[in-house]
Parts: sequence; structure tokens; C-alpha cells
Amino acid sequence: MHRIILHIDMNSYFASVEQQANPFLRGKPIGITGKDQERSVVATASIEAKKLGVKTAMSTWEAKKICPSLILYAGDPEKYSDIMHRFNAIYQEFTPHVEPFSVDESFLDITEEAEDFFGATYMAQMIRTRLKEELGNHITASIGIAPNKLMAKLACETVKPSGLTVVQPEELIDLLNRCKLDDLCGIGPRILKRLHALDIKTFAELRACPLEDLQREFKSYGLWLHEAAYGRDSSQGVNANSSDAKSYGHSYTLPENTQDQTVLKRYLFGLADKVGWRMRRDGVVARRITAHVRFGDFTSHSEQRTVNTPTADGMDLFKISWNIVKPLLTSDVRLVGLSASMLTKNPSQPSLFKKERNMQSVLCALDSLQHRYGTGVWKRGATLPLNLKQRSSGFHFDHEV
Ligand SMILES: [Mg+2]
Repeated sequence: MHRIILHIDMNSYFASVEQQANPFLRGKPIGITGKDQERSVVATASIEAKKLGVKTAMSTWEAKKICPSLILYAGDPEKYSDIMHRFNAIYQEFTPHVEPFSVDESFLDITEEAEDFFGATYMAQMIRTRLKEELGNHITASIGIAPNKLMAKLACETVKPSGLTVVQPEELIDLLNRCKLDDLCGIGPRILKRLHALDIKTFAELRACPLEDLQREFKSYGLWLHEAAYGRDSSQGVNANSSDAKSYGHSYTLPENTQDQTVLKRYLFGLADKVGWRMRRDGVVARRITAHVRFGDFTSHSEQRTVNTPTADGMDLFKISWNIVKPLLTSDVRLVGLSASMLTKNPSQPSLFKKERNMQSVLCALDSLQHRYGTGVWKRGATLPLNLKQRSSGFHFDHEV
């Protein structure tokens, strides 16, 4: 029997939270930004702003140019995180199988509770009613229902904002045929480019491409692409009891563009420490580190490294990401960031090497200080002059850099 998965995605999340909180902002084009608005990007645009052409990740000056009536509003990451816990608690009323996917998206497995797709639609409407009761009229959600996570998310994309759609197993191919390749979560710009190079521009063409050819080009990802073209998703089911993130990441727009290595090192180190701390707090280690640079002209570059020994140590994360960033510093940098993925639970196996064991115990001691007194309680000498301001776009569950 197939499963019944709901993907629930809040519409223009940060913006609608602010519109709910402040009636003055309702019905108006607003853009949620970081604290330093001049240099920030739009983390979320309200539905009204999107209609006027403002897009997520657009720089504030570009957004203002396109939409002069845009109201820029500094985001409040803690508030968004708090409300996230509230809506996930609502989902828990319906099923224990709730998996947060990002700060405003969750998967719910309601196979047992809903019994069939008709029941699922009914449940989705009940969830919407509960959200309205708890969070107000202005924080709304789109819901996609399908036999697996991949297709539920895709279905949800097609009905934004505020839609609800059901895609039954026999309708999966139809749904895919209506979508672009990169509408699918997992086909990013790089994969898309490589698919185009193979003359694959639609899901029908992807299905027509022999699996061996895909595997030759994409290695193990070839099988995933082949399966996805048929709407199949072999990923684990919805992970109950898991508020597990898929990756941990932070990025930061610098106060001014620079290619000064000392400055960039300092920021990257500060960010790496923050990422490492969050991972250790959640008891995970990462095998893949991705570093990201955005240049003054808004072109970006990101690259990843996979390491043999998984880590959650800020120093390791820094070293790996600096190795990626350093050769890229040919022009002024506007933003740096890193993220850690391919996570596993930390078996907390003591290291074989004395020096590393000592470092581990130092980290443990520092972490318990942070638990007690908050994240500002210690700093490395190397990052002392650094003042990383919390920004709305800096709060990420699955921050993609
Ligand atoms: Mg959303």
C-alpha cells in the first residue's frame, strides 16, 4: 500500500508573521530583511510584494528599485522559530509522524490516520482550521498531499499561495509533466545545467533517458533522477520524533565588501563556530562541508568537500571552508557562509589521539557554559573583534548555501 504524505509550507512565512503581529503591515508589500537593511537581502517578501516582482534573496536596493512602495522590515528570527514550534505542535495533534523540513515547512505521514486520500483532504482542511485558530488569519499555509515526500513537496509548490492539492499515485506522471525540472526539490541549477547538456529539458525526456546514461553522468544520483522522473522517492519515510535538521549553516553579509583575508577568515571562523555549536548541541556530526561566497557583483560560488572523519568542531569546519574560500578571493567579497550536511548522530567516541581528546574535553566544557549562559559566553581570540548580528536570513534549519 502506498503512503499518504502531507507537505505543509507556510506562505511568505516571515512576512506573514509580521503582518499577523502588526495590522499596519497587512495588505502591503513588505520585505523582511536582516538588521543591516542597506546591505541585506530580502529574506521573505509578502504576497503583495511578490506580486509586484520582489523575489526572495533579492538585494534590498534592487527590490526597492522594482517596488518603491516596498516596506523593509528587520526580521526577528527568534519569533519565527517560536511560531515554528507552535505549528509543529499543532501537526502533532493529528499524527506523531511529523518531520520539520525547514523553518516553515514540515512533512506529515498520515497514512494510518487518514486511511485514504479523501480522508487526507479532510484532515488537511482541519489542520488549516487549527492553524487559523492558533496563529491567526494572516499566517496561511499551502498543502500538498501525495504518496511520498518528494511528490508532496512538488504538489505543494504548484498551489502556492494558500492552495491545497492531492496527487494520487496514478496522477504522479501528470503532475511531473506539468512541472519544470528544477521545480523538483533535488534538481538545483548545477544538476539542471548538466541535464540540459544531455538535452534533457522535461520529465518526459528524463524518463526517456536510459538509466545507464544517467548513472554514467551522475553516478549514484542517476538512479535518484531516474526514479524521481516517475514520481518515486525511495527516501526514508517521515521521521517521527525528529526535529532533525538536514544541514546546519550560517552565512553573513559583510559590513563592507572586501578581499582582506584576515577579515574574511575572522568572519568564516565565527560562522564555523556557530555552526559547530548548534551541531554539538543537537548531537550530530557532518561529513560534508559546503562553503559559499558571494562577490560584490552578486555572482556566487559554492563548493563542497566530503571528509572521512565526521566533525562538529568549529575549527575543523573553518579549516575546510577556508581551504575552499581562499583560492576564490580574486575580487571583493560581499557574503561568506558555510553549511555542514550528511549528518549522523555523534557516537561520541573518544578520539585515539591525545591532542584531539584534549580538544574534545575543552569543547565539552565550553559547550556546557553556552548551555548555561547563552552563546555569547565565550569567543575565540581569533574572532574577538567580530560582532555577528543575528539576522532573519541567518536563522536556518536547512540553510542552503
Ligand atoms: Mg514557505
